[in-house]
Amino acid sequence: MFSEGELTQPVPVNSGSAPIPGCVERAEMRSVLLRHVVEGGTCRSCGNPPDHTGYCFAGRVAYERLATDWPH
Ligand SMILES: [Zn+2]
Repeated sequence: MFSEGELTQPVPVNSGSAPIPGCVERAEMRSVLLRHVVEGGTCRSCGNPPDHTGYCFAGRVAYERLATDWPH
């Protein structure tokens, strides 16, 4: 005979699909922004020319994420 406790299995923790915490994403965006510096008409990291904002595409995306998602 099984007791009630032996029939219940622990639920496996699926940490692989957990969303990225906001603080981790902001740190990543900040590092992207620091790498993508436009010098002499092209980005130092990806080589793309800047758009009207003065950032390359990757740099501008990172900048806008930092500007809009800041928690304070
Ligand atoms: Zn770039």
